[in-house]
Amino acid sequence: MHTEAENAVKNGNFIHMYIQEDLGGRPLQTRFPPEPNGYLHIGHAKSICLNFELARRYGGKCNLRFDDTNPAKESDEFVRSIQDDIRWLGFDWGDRLFYASDYFAQMYEYAIELIKKGKAFVCDLTTEQLREYKGSWDAVGSDSPYRNRTTDENLSLFAQMKNGEFPDGAKTLRAKIDMGSPNINLRDPVLYRIARIPHQRTGGDWCVYPMYDYAHPIEDIIEGVTHSICTLEFEEHRPLYDWITGELAGENKPRQIEFAKLSLSRTIMGKRSIAELVAKGVVDGWDDPRLPTISGLRRRGCTPSAIRAFCEEIGVSKANSTVDCSMFEHFVREDLKNKAKVVMVVLDPLKLVITNYEKDGESFVVENNAENPELGTREVTFSRELYIEREDFAENPPKKFRRLTVGGCVRLKSAYVVVCDNIIKDSDGNVSEIHCTYIIDKEDAEVKPKSAIQWVNKQDAVSVSARLYDSLINEDGTKNGDALTVIPNAMAEKSLEDANSEDRFQFMRIGYFCIDSKYSDSQKLAFNRTLPLKNSFKTVST
Ligand code: ATP
Ligand code: MG
Repeated sequence: MHTEAENAVKNGNFIHMYIQEDLGGRPLQTRFPPEPNGYLHIGHAKSICLNFELARRYGGKCNLRFDDTNPAKESDEFVRSIQDDIRWLGFDWGDRLFYASDYFAQMYEYAIELIKKGKAFVCDLTTEQLREYKGSWDAVGSDSPYRNRTTDENLSLFAQMKNGEFPDGAKTLRAKIDMGSPNINLRDPVLYRIARIPHQRTGGDWCVYPMYDYAHPIEDIIEGVTHSICTLEFEEHRPLYDWITGELAGENKPRQIEFAKLSLSRTIMGKRSIAELVAKGVVDGWDDPRLPTISGLRRRGCTPSAIRAFCEEIGVSKANSTVDCSMFEHFVREDLKNKAKVVMVVLDPLKLVITNYEKDGESFVVENNAENPELGTREVTFSRELYIEREDFAENPPKKFRRLTVGGCVRLKSAYVVVCDNIIKDSDGNVSEIHCTYIIDKEDAEVKPKSAIQWVNKQDAVSVSARLYDSLINEDGTKNGDALTVIPNAMAEKSLEDANSEDRFQFMRIGYFCIDSKYSDSQKLAFNRTLPLKNSFKTVST
């Protein structure tokens, strides 16, 4: 991990440059400041990796700070899930867990300080009037008629606001900066509003709440943050951040640095959009494996190390762009390639009978992962009746079909070569059984299989269900209403009976899978497909 961060410096990561420029002996202090109004998604993972890795790289600390200043949309469920997700990603905030709401009293005191300095005033303009006075990108704003209230008057009105003497929205506290500024954010921005919304942590203690642009720099000041790393949409707000920290921070001013948000193709990001899918029941909760939420990716079987490696690789930049989802998938496959046990499962079982097999059965020792001998071996049982994947047999094979056909042969992976002699059909005309003979001498020169297929022993096969996921967004940008395929009765080799919830598997020739915690029960295991293999449904070499 260390060398990755060092590479980032070599790559000219501008954040490292700023940090090295600024620190001069002061320990680095970063923070990850989620608003607890939803579950974290992969975009947040980028920010988490960045802030925690920077702290590690420079021997500093990263705070987890809940930016809970807007009680209308926030909840404890989100606070818990955010902590779980960050831990699962592999980061530890130690004792540095903070809540912006714990600073409400200090924020109020800082506002009084601004009033005393003549830098803030109580304004009676309504929301609509505020908008009119604000001007626009091409027209300067105009001063509020309340802008020149005396300090004493402002102090007593602000106290009355806090004490609940005015109705919601009746007054605001505003910074006194410059209504003529070309930057709209500097046109006497609102710092406090009156809103009687109970807060999940402070209850009814407050009826005035700080606005984000005021609260955030103060949170950074209180926590001694040195570098406040945020996304690009706050670039236009930086002058206000600098104004507030300039007025209130004293010596140790934090520095705001912006970077481009991660956006991924073929998926839906942004807490608001995800919340909508959850509310409408389009997906099965915030941890639906189709979602790019951390909990969804986790349930889907993605590993924290794959997510971290992906975030490291995409790096940080100052220009918004969209990362192709195939790049993320590449990192997941790379990580699972050597970690996942390769097992045999058939999603659409077709019975295969070996008519010349006269033994009761036998077992073969097979490698759990040919690329990683550390994963060891296991025994796989074999007998006269097996299941193979229905797709691996074709009665009327298309050109270049390399698997089983009537009169043709195929290798049963790790076992024998079989030749198909005839087939049996049910009353609907569907193939219900394939009758084969096996070739005892593996070196038989007459019969040369072109491919190997997976199989399971009918005698001890385990019935499992599998869920196959696709992207929420089609290639052409339309919504994919079909992003989930449920396979109720797949057949798996017996070893899967003992699978643990954290185990990862490669179902041979099908894809990467993990156990789904939600749909598995004592009767039947449910699997999620993390991803198809790159070349799904291509045959493995014999
Ligand atoms: P969303 O746009 O999904 O609602 P948000 O920015 O409102 O996200 P916050 O809880 O405010 O969510 O974000 C916490 C931190 O994560 C912020 O510092 C924010 O800049 C960062 N962040 C959010 N989305 C992304 C993203 N797509 N890429 C990188 N960082 C992000
Ligand atoms: Mg937000």
